[in-house]
Amino acid sequence: MRRLAITIIFLLLLPLAGRSQISIRIFARTRPATIIFTAGQGGFLLRDGAAADLRLIPGEVVIITRYDKRVIYRTLSGTFGAADSLTFSPASADALFRVRAPGNPEPEKLLNGMLRVKPFPGSLLVLNYTTVEECLPGVVRAEAGKFGPSHYFRAQAVVARTYIYRNMERHALDGYNLCDDIHCQVYPGVVTDTVIVNACRLTAGKVLTDRDSLLIEAAFHGNCGGETASSADVWLAGYPYLVSVKDPWCSYSASSTWRKSISRAEWNSFLVSKGITPGTEGSMYSGRSPGQPPEGGRIANRIVQGKTITSEEIRLRFDLRSSYIAMAPAADSIIISGRGYGHGVGLCQDGAKHMAEKKTSYDRIIGFYYPGTIITDIKNARRPPRP
Ligand SMILES: [Zn+2]
Ligand SMILES: [Zn+2]
Repeated sequence: MRRLAITIIFLLLLPLAGRSQISIRIFARTRPATIIFTAGQGGFLLRDGAAADLRLIPGEVVIITRYDKRVIYRTLSGTFGAADSLTFSPASADALFRVRAPGNPEPEKLLNGMLRVKPFPGSLLVLNYTTVEECLPGVVRAEAGKFGPSHYFRAQAVVARTYIYRNMERHALDGYNLCDDIHCQVYPGVVTDTVIVNACRLTAGKVLTDRDSLLIEAAFHGNCGGETASSADVWLAGYPYLVSVKDPWCSYSASSTWRKSISRAEWNSFLVSKGITPGTEGSMYSGRSPGQPPEGGRIANRIVQGKTITSEEIRLRFDLRSSYIAMAPAADSIIISGRGYGHGVGLCQDGAKHMAEKKTSYDRIIGFYYPGTIITDIKNARRPPRP
């Protein structure tokens, strides 16, 4: 028993630095049955399990289709074959390739590293083997947008890297690390935006931990509306670094206030679904004139007839931009007015961007939105045990 406990502790303490290799499932959302590979600079070697590798010069195109439990392929220069799996290995360190799926709504991706293609029920399993640092700029651009100051992107790079390392085991049972869909982390492929690429390099290896060296739940959102939400109120899971902070930095943004009208019938049916008799919910309303944005901070819960309704429930039910809301009855509707965009937990992107524009460094931006956390190298960090 004691030995088991020591083994478990040892496993949990294993440094994560050696895990900088990462496998990402490409086109995870649309799962195409045919893809087209185009070799870019550097060239590639195609291995199909036969004796010799096929050399692919830059510009060579390979069409790959699932055929029963195998994959078949054909090059534009006339070579074809069938295999249990195909591996495209880069012939040089800076080799790049493109991959697209005909008729697929997902755009073509520019990728680096290695590509492996296997048959999958009804489709292909397309896996890209790369490193965390090489895929990070693409992830950061997908999450943080294209434009902003360097320290904004440095903060986002640390947050995204923390997320990737914390969730490395998400698809362990599927045989890869992460997928390229919103389920894990949207990965559009290699990007060349100089400010973003440099922000990732300047923070290489840096992640966020709590005081026990555990990688944090690095939540972020678009705009907090002037006050971030505590994770305990939104997800019923409290973390000491995901507490509500007053944010004076994001009110400049157009997303900071909004309003939405809901029909009385829709609202009443929501109340009934929560066990509340329509007409008794007066205490839920702000008392301000309809359409006035909320004042005086977020309200996490409203209690009517002994029933608790969270603001997050209302946000999800009526597809609201945020849960920082005030409600007021109008003639035959309820006017919901709000501040901010997104769940409100953790880093506020509009605020972080504005702080960076005002010359705040990325470590201070992170300290503001994740109080009490530590920026450290990945080799000093641990992944929290799975719940
Ligand atoms: Zn996933
Ligand atoms: Zn904010």
